[in-house]
Amino acid sequence: MSIRNAILALSGLLLAACAHVPPDMPPPAPGGAAHDWRETVAGIASADMGDGRRHAVEQGLSAIGLDWKAAPFVRDDDRGANLLAPVAGDADAPLLLLGAHFDRVDTGQGATDNASGTAVVLTLAERLRERPLAHHRVAVALWDLEERGLVGAHAYVEQGREQPALYVNFDVFGWGDTIWMMSPTPDAGIATATRASADAAGIGLSVGDQYPPTDHLAFLKAGWPAVSYSLVGAAEIDGILSMYAGKPPATAPRVMEVIHSEHDTVEKVDAESAVRAIDAIEDALRRWDAMGVEGVKDA
Ligand SMILES: [Zn+2]
Repeated sequence: MSIRNAILALSGLLLAACAHVPPDMPPPAPGGAAHDWRETVAGIASADMGDGRRHAVEQGLSAIGLDWKAAPFVRDDDRGANLLAPVAGDADAPLLLLGAHFDRVDTGQGATDNASGTAVVLTLAERLRERPLAHHRVAVALWDLEERGLVGAHAYVEQGREQPALYVNFDVFGWGDTIWMMSPTPDAGIATATRASADAAGIGLSVGDQYPPTDHLAFLKAGWPAVSYSLVGAAEIDGILSMYAGKPPATAPRVMEVIHSEHDTVEKVDAESAVRAIDAIEDALRRWDAMGVEGVKDA
């Protein structure tokens, strides 16, 4: 999450007095989707900042058989490289683009922000490659320099890349009982599909247009359809929004005590809850696709 430092500097100061170290989450049993997802997060989080992290993501893309390409960019004083890869589907089918930023801030390991979201994209890509969608082509984009102001995502849009039928972003997906969905229109096809999937999975869901700044904004700014997903505790959402509004709550929500701090390590992610949410979102993407190309025109 970006454009945060100034707001948090203020909030952080106010909350320093009552901050505490969030407890570690128990690692999942070996074998299974939760274990694999956590291993992917750990591989990215433990890599050196910059090239090390990008290389870890490249290895993740290769490991699921994707033909990825680095897409370098220069934007003002920033220089970086996004990672793009086709996943499955007919070349002339409309595009569903899944994305997440892989870069991190200097402090901590950027496990929850945002090795977690990157691992969600890799997990969904593997599943959608094994069982492609009926009406949409799928590709993935892993963004560089989000923490410097959504730079990689803006560069992608400005490079005249293909406009997707829908861009789906993932940022901060470390733990929680609730999928937090940013949807510009609450009754959009993908929002309706997500409600049905969350109900079926018995997982919490909060849909709205109030949401922290992250890479979906680069698409919305260009007038391209986009939504974003995070995973948090239901009780954290209001506190997070208050902090972004510069009105810190009495007790900081766990997310804000972890991201952009030395506590943002793989020990803080809860792989079981993350995979439960990934299953629900995979189901939502398939329900959305089943609406057909016409049915999803409202994003
Ligand atoms: Zn982030």
